[in-house]
Amino acid sequence: MSDGVMRPSSAEAARAAFDALVGEGAQPGSWVGAGLVRGSGDPVTLTDPATGEAILAYPDAGEGVAARAAEAAGKGFRAWSSLTAAARGRALWAWGERVAGASEPLARLEASVSGKPVRDCLREVAAVADMLRYWAGWTDKLEGRVIPVPTTHHVTVRHEPYGVILAITPWNAPLFTAGWNVAPILAAGNACILKPSELTPLTSLAFAKLALEAGVPEGVVTVVPGFGATTGAALLRCPEVAQVVFVGSPEGGAAVGAAAAARGIPAVLELGGKSANIVFEDADLSRAVLGAQSAIFAGCGQSCVAGSRLLVQRTVHERLVAEVASGAARIRLGHPLDPDTEMGPIANARQHAKVTAMVAQGLADGARLATGGNAPAGLPREGFWLSPTLLADVGNSMTIAQEEVFGPVLAAIPFDTEEEAITLANATRFGLAGAVWTRDVGRAHRVAAAVRAGTFWVNGYRTIHVSVPFGGFGASGHGRSSGTEALAAYTRSKAIWVETAADPAVAFGYGPAKA
Ligand code: NAD
Repeated sequence: MSDGVMRPSSAEAARAAFDALVGEGAQPGSWVGAGLVRGSGDPVTLTDPATGEAILAYPDAGEGVAARAAEAAGKGFRAWSSLTAAARGRALWAWGERVAGASEPLARLEASVSGKPVRDCLREVAAVADMLRYWAGWTDKLEGRVIPVPTTHHVTVRHEPYGVILAITPWNAPLFTAGWNVAPILAAGNACILKPSELTPLTSLAFAKLALEAGVPEGVVTVVPGFGATTGAALLRCPEVAQVVFVGSPEGGAAVGAAAAARGIPAVLELGGKSANIVFEDADLSRAVLGAQSAIFAGCGQSCVAGSRLLVQRTVHERLVAEVASGAARIRLGHPLDPDTEMGPIANARQHAKVTAMVAQGLADGARLATGGNAPAGLPREGFWLSPTLLADVGNSMTIAQEEVFGPVLAAIPFDTEEEAITLANATRFGLAGAVWTRDVGRAHRVAAAVRAGTFWVNGYRTIHVSVPFGGFGASGHGRSSGTEALAAYTRSKAIWVETAADPAVAFGYGPAKA
């Protein structure tokens, strides 16, 4: 690629994959019922992040399509409710099989539009198939309970679905995030409207078509692509929408949380992070170096759990910085569709501008550039490229250490004591994830307990699974979108009091006393 020309073309690859998955010549719109509906809003242009070239454009869904989609989702909920729990489980399992069977075109479509390396996309598609299979097993296990009240009543508690739940997702891992959120929503008996990022809607549309082909009834999975401020806000106003789960920025989460509160519906918010990856001098340092690299450079740093602050004990700080810098410089950057590519471009122009501005600000604030900071040579200048970047000598109060970059930029910060490491780790408004690298078991437990975060790893990073609760503390959000916590979030309990005594005075229990 030394001529700066990217092969193959993402536009051609995206078109071919979308044709194969959704239908020859299909024009992106909203997936409502059993087909695509064209929006009426402003055009949204999808861009190849590797070259900056336009891939295709489609109209924002807008208010009218949002209302139609919500009505279809309401019908879908009724159809889903009419199936037995076991039948819902079989449909989810079959959907997982369809996703696994379509892994090649799904991964190519995702890579072309999001800029994520195709080998990562293949792993994510496989994970989505597994999510559906995992949640398929839960549909017939949502048991209620009987409460022995001090009256003559037989009291049962049922866990009922909300109805239609809106899932709003970002652009960094579109299909993975769709599967992560939609599957438990459906397993709990709800229908879902998915509002993917306007920048990456195509795999979500293909996902909905695969659901229908797998036997999930029409309307159970509805996909409405468009801008947050127009289509997202319109969906939130639809009376059918009974809950929202939002995955995105803290600013977007604040707006969605406020809109949900205004309507009195619950909101699960999965927001950003500024996670601390803490390395003590007694750690296996070669593993810690690899862990630090994968924590920040996987997905080009566009991961909510990215280990974007590397806190290193001062005695090994220089060594860690040197080794992470040299490892980072060896990461293979290239076209997202090239199977050997380890890191692709930043996913869109807006994010590229934000990330490069934050690096410049970090340097202006006194950080030292240990590696990266530029677009790599030999790649198209119009693409949204940035080499893996390591800033050393960062102070924890600098903007680069306090605000989420959401790009391949690591800030290294030295510390002296365990107490200082914990204080630094907790000194941001976020609390999504974190890790500690140490051979001292006691220290591992102490630090894991003391760091304020929803997920924490010991001698590792990045593993998550749908069976395990995931979510944030502080500005990283609230509510949990996985584990049995998600089933609790996506159902509401109903208490049913059944009178069992013939004597009404006894039956009313706390009512008027018997004469
Ligand atoms: P964003 O907040 O700009 O957009 C996210 C989604 O919300 C998009 O679909 C967008 O169209 C929609 N949206 C925005 N404003 C809205 C509004 N007022 N009403 C309704 N919908 C609205 O975020 P982004 O730039 O797409 O994604 C990056 C962010 O996502 C980062 O902060 C990252 O940390 C976060 N993220 C969090 C998690 C997690 O699980 N905690 C996972 C992935 C990404």
